[in-house]
Amino acid sequence: MATKKKNTEQGIDWNYSPSLESTSHLKLKKKYDLFIDGEWVKPSSGKYFKTVNPANEEVIAEIAYGNQEDVDKAVKAARKAYTDVWSIMPPAERAKYIFRIARLMQERARELAVAETLDAGKTIRESRDIDVPLACNYFFYYAGWADKLEYAFPNRKVESLGVAGQIIPWNFPLLMAAWKIAPALATGNTVVLKPAETTPLTALILAEIIEESGLPAGVVNIVTGHGDTGAAIVNHPDIDKIAFTGSTNVGKIIQKALAGTSKKLTLELGGKSANIIFDDAPIDQAVEGIVNGIFFNQGHVCCAGSRLYVQESVAELVIQKLKSRMDSLYLGNPLDKNTDIGAINSKEQLETIHKYIKIGKQEGAEMYQPKCSIPTKGFYCAPTLFINVAQSSVIAQEEIFGPVLTIQTFRTVDEVIQKANNSPFGLAAGVWTDKGSRIFNLSSKLRAGVIWANTYNKFDPTSPFGGYKESGFGREGGLHGLNSYVKLS
Ligand code: ADP
Repeated sequence: MATKKKNTEQGIDWNYSPSLESTSHLKLKKKYDLFIDGEWVKPSSGKYFKTVNPANEEVIAEIAYGNQEDVDKAVKAARKAYTDVWSIMPPAERAKYIFRIARLMQERARELAVAETLDAGKTIRESRDIDVPLACNYFFYYAGWADKLEYAFPNRKVESLGVAGQIIPWNFPLLMAAWKIAPALATGNTVVLKPAETTPLTALILAEIIEESGLPAGVVNIVTGHGDTGAAIVNHPDIDKIAFTGSTNVGKIIQKALAGTSKKLTLELGGKSANIIFDDAPIDQAVEGIVNGIFFNQGHVCCAGSRLYVQESVAELVIQKLKSRMDSLYLGNPLDKNTDIGAINSKEQLETIHKYIKIGKQEGAEMYQPKCSIPTKGFYCAPTLFINVAQSSVIAQEEIFGPVLTIQTFRTVDEVIQKANNSPFGLAAGVWTDKGSRIFNLSSKLRAGVIWANTYNKFDPTSPFGGYKESGFGREGGLHGLNSYVKLS
């Protein structure tokens, strides 16, 4: 059946035929065990859980449910590998392994992209063009640093920390694994990583790649499971560092659990990022940037531009163009290369988004959703706009983690800075204007870790990423990202 794309602005209707990415090259196992000490081992409880394709609710594979005993095994393996091999290996040799992992990931890029789309529900366009190439680039980038740490930290003695426990979420499963594993290895640490329970597949394929790369056993261990598996990593006494990306609630639990211990901690938590459009901005580009910031990825980016601030004089025009662009977005099968908006990662997340949409309506904001057909199987949410939103409203304050955008207007620079900073979060922001001086002014006053100017959601391994306030602390990426994995004296 032909899928339809509509361009209402020009009054044109186009028909696109479906263009499904092939899955034939992807050879998934029916059941995945834990990757500990270079071997695939059964979970000590004998328990497995199912990972489901959120686009059609079909079970993809069974995944080992790791418990405290398994985590302990993984930590012991990581400690031994740290002491006997990895921490004493010449850094240039470590770099070769990291480089090799990056190359092998590139070789299996199509497979990784399809697995990511099947497991996470994100569009194939996103996983193929963004997640997988970026994940490879983080490994390449940190491979380059491994033997140059004395240049990263001149006149300082640089030591690794030991065993790093890393816990990651479902929105960028492979990319988050790369953000965490690559700098840890480059600085001489070993790793126990737990992927999210709804998206374990690409971390497990990465484990196969790591196995193929010949990385010494125990240097990277992948322990799958749920929140209790993550908690077992956090609370393990022989772990030196915890790196966590996920919800602010769990971040707070982890911070409390680690208080008074010597474990080093970095937290990358939620966000409610402001995207600010001034009247001198290139409006069409800005509208595309807004759509990219919140809708293309189902709003599943912790730094999603979910609060839009538009200067009053252009508000009507921006809203009209935005609605028209939303009308032409195609929602559906994430494996279709035409698809702009894929599936929401889980039923629970879809319910959370619906809860917020209901709150938005109750709060009296004006809602707009394009008339798109929603597949009957799978978890999907139409792109949603709320206009005339009060600054204090729940939908403008709380993280929704879905394709839901709130719009407010502003008149002056000071007003928008005050509004944008009036949030418990501070992960990212976007500024759209023709004036360079205004960009510099705002970027020094907005309390957010990343500020994009005339673009949005651009990532690069050389740039640090991280938050202010309840969005967490510590930086990942770039030279700053090395800092989180070393002891300096
Ligand atoms: P999200 O809302 O993005 O799913 P979560 O914070 O619930 O974020 O999950 C992020 C990661 O944290 C997942 O891998 C999850 O299994 C793990 N996790 C959940 N609860 C805990 C906990 N109490 N301690 C450690 N890790 C946890």
